Amino acid sequence: MRQNNKPNSPIGGNPILIFAIFTIVVILIFKVFSPGGSVLSGGISQTISYYELKQLIENKEVEQVSIGQTIIKAQGDKDGQNIIYTAKKVNDSSLVPLLDSKSIPYSGFSETNWFTDMLGWLIPVFIILGLWMFMASRMQKSMGNGIFGMGNAKKLVNAEKPKVRFDDMAGNKEAKEEVVEIVDFLKHPDRYASIGAKIPKGVLLVGPPGTGKTLLAKAVAGEANVPFFSMSGSSFIEMFVGLGASRVRDLFDMAKKEAPSIIFIDEIDAIGKSRAAGGMISGNDEREQTLNQLLAEMDGFNSDSSPVIVLAATNRPEVLDPALLRPGRFDRQVLVDKPDFNGRVDILKVHIKSVKLSRDVDLQEIARLTAGLAGADLANIINEAALLAGRANKQEVSQQDFREAVERSIAGLEKKSRRISPKEKKIVAYHESGHAVIAEMTEGASKVNKVSIIPRGMAALGYTLHTPEENRYLMQKHELIAEVDVLLSGRAAEDVFLGEISTGASNDLERATDILKSMISYYGMTDVSGLMVLEKPRNSFLGGGLGNQREFSEKTAEDMDNFIKSTLNDRYNFVKQTLTDYKEAIELMVSELFEKEVIDGSRVRDIISEFEVKNNLPTRLVAREQLDD
Ligand code: ADP
Ligand code: ZN
Repeated sequence: MRQNNKPNSPIGGNPILIFAIFTIVVILIFKVFSPGGSVLSGGISQTISYYELKQLIENKEVEQVSIGQTIIKAQGDKDGQNIIYTAKKVNDSSLVPLLDSKSIPYSGFSETNWFTDMLGWLIPVFIILGLWMFMASRMQKSMGNGIFGMGNAKKLVNAEKPKVRFDDMAGNKEAKEEVVEIVDFLKHPDRYASIGAKIPKGVLLVGPPGTGKTLLAKAVAGEANVPFFSMSGSSFIEMFVGLGASRVRDLFDMAKKEAPSIIFIDEIDAIGKSRAAGGMISGNDEREQTLNQLLAEMDGFNSDSSPVIVLAATNRPEVLDPALLRPGRFDRQVLVDKPDFNGRVDILKVHIKSVKLSRDVDLQEIARLTAGLAGADLANIINEAALLAGRANKQEVSQQDFREAVERSIAGLEKKSRRISPKEKKIVAYHESGHAVIAEMTEGASKVNKVSIIPRGMAALGYTLHTPEENRYLMQKHELIAEVDVLLSGRAAEDVFLGEISTGASNDLERATDILKSMISYYGMTDVSGLMVLEKPRNSFLGGGLGNQREFSEKTAEDMDNFIKSTLNDRYNFVKQTLTDYKEAIELMVSELFEKEVIDGSRVRDIISEFEVKNNLPTRLVAREQLDD
């Protein structure tokens, strides 16, 4: 681990402070060697009243008198010993004539000396100096670097050579596979440079918090044995315009010096938020400058023989500025998702290595209890269980400790990441199986890639991942209807198999409605308005945007509503019928999902065709009906 900050001694190497301490020491030395302050010193001293002093003078019992501004000192002799009397001065004009008449020598003296004089002005100076330094250090902390090192990012950058390996990250096999080649780029850049290949510069790690994005980035650096410079997106943004940009510059300078190396920017959405998203007038110049600097740095560095690869993490890729995602920047995206059942077992295995377990511990049960939680939550649960066992003074962590730890973490996690209860799991399993079966059997629908009942990102409960068979820019009418069918099928499955519907389908319904609406109003695909376009595309610059103006009659609006409603209804009933016919296949799919949480598209297809063969159904039901319009 390399350390960038100089180790700080308590005085911090501050020249002003060193000077101050030096001055004080010198003064003290002088004080020790300098004789007493006033002229008369040595011997015994005794404080007396002015009246007594005058008596002593009267009786000629003092030999010498010294008059200050507020006190008078007199030297006398008592039992052969030198004695100094001190008296408070009184306004008395007869003193000097008295001394003259008694022929006692007298002199004046200054009660202050150079030392006290100097202290008089030094103390306030030191107080002001101290106060100023205190304020400055406070300011420095609050600004990260402060006015003395404007933009100097070195203190905010974490530089290290991680020892983390791919094995430390469990689950997420796909994500690991995608970053393996980055390790190769870093290890053998010449191999790529010599054949003229351009090494990618940026990789975006996308996934919910705690799923191991930072861990994965570190593992890449660890495997490639290169330095790792990390900084959080939010620490670029400060109150001073220009600071973020110069921090970006510093970060890249540091990484380039150590290239090949990795830069990791956590929460990149803090800087990379879409400029358009902020409205027409961007209120945040600072962020814009920082983002521009980041783009410039990414476009600028280009040493293929010793590359710097930037990994960035976000859980909201949709808000990122499109400029960030362009080729040559973050043009690769790696999904780091929440773990499924097997993934959770593996993560538990990684974190349990250092914990003493009792024999009854069943990781599978813990994994089953923690559906929906991320790797960080699991690591936390294990630690919590160990703490519970420790508190009870046990030698080993038992299954009961784990159960309790799960309960506790879930109570605390309520907001961050939600665990799915078995009841919800069942609803989601039926919902997603419905989507999967209808997608597979509907001509024109995208085929299923993966079905999961583990929530992805923030929004959905589960998901069915579809991949269109080819890249498409045109959609035919039957394909739009197919999409509506697929969207309705989640809700329909809940309806058919559970007898009750949930709130889980709201987004599906919204999208299905939108598709039908655009079929009428943009694409002229229905009889409602014929070929007449009713609305301009909402995201165009010319029309729409602010307050979509309606350009059609009340009657048309009513026709539109009726059409959408009745079509949705027809499609819904059709989908419900298909699902009822394929009940057995769906039940099988649900039980597999319940067990494994994720199944592949190919498994979905196998289940359906096995069912069709067994029941002598024509293989591949083509659910395609003309819309009667
Ligand atoms: P993110 O960057 O995605 O928010 P982190 O990488 O910071 O998540 O994860 C925090 C911690 O959670 C890690 O240090 C690790 O201990 C644990 N963790 C998360 N995901 C995994 C995983 N897949 N395997 C092992 N540990 C994990
Ligand atoms: Zn759905």
